Amino acid sequence: MLEVRDVTHAYTSSRLWGRSYAKDNVLSRMSLHIEEGTCLGLLGSSGAGKSTLGRIILGLEKPREGQVLFQGQNLYDLNPQARRNIRRDLQVVFQDCYSAVNPRMTAEQIIGEPLHNYESLTVQEQKRKVSELLECVGLSAADMNKQPFQFSGGQLQRINIARAIALKPKLIVLDEAVSSLDMINQANILRLLGELRAAFGLSYLFITHDIKAACMISDALAVMDKGEIVEYNDSKEQLLRSSHPAVRGLLDSMLADHPRNRHRT
Ligand code: ADP
Ligand code: MG
Repeated sequence: MLEVRDVTHAYTSSRLWGRSYAKDNVLSRMSLHIEEGTCLGLLGSSGAGKSTLGRIILGLEKPREGQVLFQGQNLYDLNPQARRNIRRDLQVVFQDCYSAVNPRMTAEQIIGEPLHNYESLTVQEQKRKVSELLECVGLSAADMNKQPFQFSGGQLQRINIARAIALKPKLIVLDEAVSSLDMINQANILRLLGELRAAFGLSYLFITHDIKAACMISDALAVMDKGEIVEYNDSKEQLLRSSHPAVRGLLDSMLADHPRNRHRT
């Protein structure tokens, strides 16, 4: 369904004498694919290039080289109408649930925004759809008039998920979507994401530095290091046995998180 082919990317800096020059590659000849209805976990430490790849897959950042094929169509070679149609099939949930929403909007306005942009529903129809979506993510229709500050982080992330699934997309990029939640909320949101995937036939690109969360939700795993994919495996068990330093580093940081493994000072 999604294929990333040999994507290379570098950001441009234009500080020097007003001239722009390309910085070092942030991504080098990256390739991966996501089959319909599956979840690919994209792992890597901070700065590896995960979010850059996420933005390229969402059509937000044109890569210097390579292609992104979504259902066989090259994302960066589309006319505006085709691009608009594809945009609704590609959605995103970010780590920081608070900055992802307008603090003055109500839950109804936040979730209703994509519906308003893409579907011509009557006020009543839209209200009904929003309450269905709230229930889909474990909230209730009564939450419709609340504003972001009235929700906990976990609840607000559910609102962001409701907005992401409002248009029944094909692929959702989850960029560190559970990373700022506590363990219980993480587990609950991961379970919710699993249920939604089954119910709506969604595919996910699950971006994280947390190998445990990635293993819980993903069918296949890819590990990035300095802009390259260093491990890519359909078998999580096999990947966890990899001796690559990037994989060992992610595993070590997970072990260090456990209180039992913290060094006493
Ligand atoms: P990750 O999500 O894995 O932490 P990012 O994709 O955010 O990695 O960043 C990869 C590299 O690209 C980092 O060195 C970062 O500083 C750089 N970078 C990210 N976004 C920009 C940008 N908009 N302009 C310039 N450099 C950027
Ligand atoms: Mg990132």
